[in-house]
Amino acid sequence: MKDSELAISQITLMKQKLHAARVSLEEINKDRNEKLKTLIQFIGNLSLACKGQNLELDNKLAKLRHHLHDYDQIDEALPDLVDIERILKSQYNQTMSQLEESRMGLSRVIRQIQRVNSAPEKVKKEIKYFKQDLGKPFHTVWEYIPKVEKLVGFYESILQQEFSQADNYEILPQHVQLARELAVKISEIEFRKDQRDQILVMKEVLQGDITLNTLLESYQTILSLLLDNIAREKSASQDFLYALNDALTVVRDVVTSSHNSNERSHQLKQQLNKEINLRVDNAGGIITDVDDVSDLKTQLTIQLSSLRDALSRKEALEQREQSILRKSIEAMRKELNNITQEANSYKEKLFEHQKLNLLDPLTQLANRAALEDRMDVEYRNHIRFKTPLWIAVTDIDHFKSVNDNFGHSTGDKTLQVIAMALKNSLRDSEFVARYGGEEFVLLLPEITEDHISILLNRVREKVKNIPFKFKNQRITVTLSIGAAQVMDNETMQDAFERADAALYRAKNNGRDRVVIDI
Ligand code: GH3
Ligand code: MG
Ligand code: MG
Repeated sequence: MKDSELAISQITLMKQKLHAARVSLEEINKDRNEKLKTLIQFIGNLSLACKGQNLELDNKLAKLRHHLHDYDQIDEALPDLVDIERILKSQYNQTMSQLEESRMGLSRVIRQIQRVNSAPEKVKKEIKYFKQDLGKPFHTVWEYIPKVEKLVGFYESILQQEFSQADNYEILPQHVQLARELAVKISEIEFRKDQRDQILVMKEVLQGDITLNTLLESYQTILSLLLDNIAREKSASQDFLYALNDALTVVRDVVTSSHNSNERSHQLKQQLNKEINLRVDNAGGIITDVDDVSDLKTQLTIQLSSLRDALSRKEALEQREQSILRKSIEAMRKELNNITQEANSYKEKLFEHQKLNLLDPLTQLANRAALEDRMDVEYRNHIRFKTPLWIAVTDIDHFKSVNDNFGHSTGDKTLQVIAMALKNSLRDSEFVARYGGEEFVLLLPEITEDHISILLNRVREKVKNIPFKFKNQRITVTLSIGAAQVMDNETMQDAFERADAALYRAKNNGRDRVVIDI
C-alpha cells in the first residue's frame, strides 16, 4: 500500500511538473514567436530599404518578404537567403567602387571651380578645405550626399556673384582714371555760384570708389550744367540785343515824329511868312494908295494888328516846335543813357568772362589760353627788341603719391600753395601759367644766360622749402624744371619743346633739379 500510494503521489507530482514544464514551454514559444515576428518585420523593412539598387536583389527580397509573411513558409525562404547574401555582397562592392568614382568626380569638379577667379575670397577658402576633405575615401553613400550639396552651394555663390557683377558692370582701372581726369577737368571750369556745391559733391564722388553708373551720371550732369551755362550766355547776349533793338526803335520813332512835326511846322511857318509878307506888302500899298492920313492910320492899325497876330502865332509855333524838340532830345538822351548802361554791364560781363576764361580756377594762375596770348606778346617783343627770352617747363615730382597717400583734395591744396609760391618768386615782367595737371610754364624775358640757372634754382628751392604737413607728417614736395632760351629764327613752340625735353632729362636724372637746354 505504501508503495502504491508513493507511486501515485510521485505520478501526480510528475504530472504537475509536466504541466508546469508545458506551460513554461508555451510561454517560451510565445515569447520566441513574438521576437521572431519583430525580427521578421525588421528584416522585411530592412529589405524595403535596400530596394532600388539592383533588380535581381529587389525580386529576391520581394519573394523573401512574401515567405516571411507566413512562419510556415520560413523554411522555403532559406535557400533564397544564400542568394540574397551573395547579391548583397557584390552590391556592396559595386557601391563602394561607385562611391570612389563619385569621389574622384567631385575632385575633378572642385578643381574646375578653383579656376574661377571671380569667386569671393571666403568661398575660395572653403573650396580649398573641401578639396582637402575629398582626399579621404567615402564609406557610405550618406557621406557622398552632403558633399554634393556643398558643391552645389559653391556653384550657387559663384553664380550669384557673377550675376550681381553683370548687373553692376565691372569698373576697370581705365574707368577710375576717367573719373579722376573728369574731377581734374571740372576743377578747371568756372561754374556759376549756384552750381558750385553740386560740382564739389560730384568731385568728391569722382575721387572716391566710383561705379560705372555714377561715372556716366556725372558726365551727364556736367554736360547739362555746361549746356545750361551756354544757353544762359546766349540769352544774356540776346537780352542785350533786344534792349538795343528796343532803344533803336524808340530813337527811330522820336526822329520820325520830330521829322513829321518839322514838316508840318515848316509848312505852317511858310504860310505865316507868306501872311506876314502879305501884311507888310499891304501896309506898303496902303501908304502909297491912301491920301487921307486918318484913313491911313486906321488902315495901318488894322494891318499892324494882323501883322502882330501873325508874328505872335509864329512865335507860339516856334516855341511849340522848340519844346517838342527838347522833349524829343530828352527822350533820346534817356534812351541813350539806358543803352549805355546796358552796354556797360554787358561789357563788364564779357570782360569777367574773358578774365575767367584766362584764369585757372583752382590755382588762380593764368591758364593755357592766357599762356598762349602771353607767349605771342613776349615773342613779338623778343623779335622786335632783340631781348633774351626764356621758357621754362616745370612739373611736380611724384605728385601722384601725394594724391594716393593723402587724398585728392590735399593734392588740390598742394597745387594751390605751389602755384602761389611760383607766382611770388617771379617779378612783374615774368609770367607763370598752369599748363595743366601739375605742370607749370614760366616765361622769363630779359634774363641772361648766367642768371637763368640761379633764378630757376631759387624757384625750385623755394618750393622745396615749403613746410607741407599732411596727416602730421612733414612732407617735402620738389620740382623738376627744364628751360630753353628762344633762339634766333626759332619759333616759340620749338623753344617750348626743347624746354620740355630738358624737363624730361631732369626727371630722368633724379628729379628735384633744373636742366637748361643749351
Ligand atoms: P613724376 O615725378 O614723373 O612727374 O611723377 P608724378 O606722379 O608727378 O606724375 P604722373 O604724371 O604720373 O602723375 C601726375 C598726377 O598729378 C596724377 C594726377 O592725378 C595728378 N593731378 C593732375 N592734376 C591734378 C589736380 O588738379 N588735382 C590733383 N589733386 N591732382 C592732380
Ligand atoms: Mg606731369
Ligand atoms: Mg609730376
